Amino acid sequence: MIFLDAAATTPVRREVLEAMWPYLSGEFGNPSSHHSLGDAAAAALAGARAATATALGCRPGEIIFTSGGTEADNLAVKGIALARRAADPRLDRVAISAVEHPAVEESARYLERVHGFAVDVIPVDSFGQVTVEALAGVLRPETALVSVMYANNEVGTVQPVARLAALARARGIPFHTDAVQAAGWLPLDTAALGVDALSLSGHKLGAPKGNGALFVRGRTRLEPLVHGGGQERGRRSGTENVAGAVALATALTLARTSRPGAPEDPGSRVAALRDDFIRAVLAGVPGAILTGHPTERLPSVASFCFPGTSGESVLLELERQGVICSSGSACAAGSDAPSSVLLALGIDAEVAQTAVRFSFDPTVTADELRQAAAAVGIAVAGVQSLGPAR
Ligand code: PLP
Repeated sequence: MIFLDAAATTPVRREVLEAMWPYLSGEFGNPSSHHSLGDAAAAALAGARAATATALGCRPGEIIFTSGGTEADNLAVKGIALARRAADPRLDRVAISAVEHPAVEESARYLERVHGFAVDVIPVDSFGQVTVEALAGVLRPETALVSVMYANNEVGTVQPVARLAALARARGIPFHTDAVQAAGWLPLDTAALGVDALSLSGHKLGAPKGNGALFVRGRTRLEPLVHGGGQERGRRSGTENVAGAVALATALTLARTSRPGAPEDPGSRVAALRDDFIRAVLAGVPGAILTGHPTERLPSVASFCFPGTSGESVLLELERQGVICSSGSACAAGSDAPSSVLLALGIDAEVAQTAVRFSFDPTVTADELRQAAAAVGIAVAGVQSLGPAR
């Protein structure tokens, strides 16, 4: 099997498993307990927080461990917007891009439905990018928060986060970015990005599913969503997932070496393989359309539409040939509605149903992608020969 669905999830890295194992076994203490086992767990948690902060160029106190990217996004969007409006009732709008993950989009819709906020959707261009002008077009004096993802999970387009955050900052509006897909591939220095909040998820990076983190800058007001014993400085109650935090910190620390420009640089290696793969697919499949930005995209994502097919059929055919990929976002699994991300790019609904995403982890090889590109040609031709998609 050639696994090309790393944007959905990744296997746990051996180093990560080894780092977390002690906190699942001998050192199983509760970090709030006042005995040696508790102290050891608290020390491990503090170490994980410090390592995560180093990866994000922030202070340890600015990191909140969560149960994953979804919870981090919920806490950022709801927590910041609700806290700001509590301080100033005029702040009753949130601005999100048209291509956000449901964790951000549905959080904003919840604020609208339950708390009476207005949601301003920032349009994207045909590559899926938000321009500074588009953001400027929706900002209002009442905007409590802006949320624009760092890199898109379906098409891989990377947003000009630093420029967008600078505009929000100039207007005094906190800026959140969902960096779940960017982590491991793009620089995460929160100071250079100029963001006030940033979400991460462990399982996209070689840590287990069910752990993540939210960076929230210094004095940013934040209303907690989970109430209880006051862990995470009162911002997220619940006994901490010590092993999960250690796993996330270890995965992030390992991934720092995979960033473009880092000492070992799988980022540019994978970007070159991605470009060869895109060329091979476009050459081998008449009518294939690359979705997302041609250059400002994650090294790890190549996404296409294959008009005249259905994405699901191509996917099944590819699996028969030993290639695992995705017909859209795994996070919207179970839904056969066309992807709202592709619709936001201006792709028509029928073509959007033919989307297939290939996403790579840092270990992907040229040989695997050569085989996969050949399999795509065969799979699409096979599906097209069955007649028009219904
Ligand atoms: N944000 C983005 C961009 C994602 O791709 C995902 C998962 O696919 C999430 C958030 C949700 O993260 P998690 O699966 O850790 O809840």
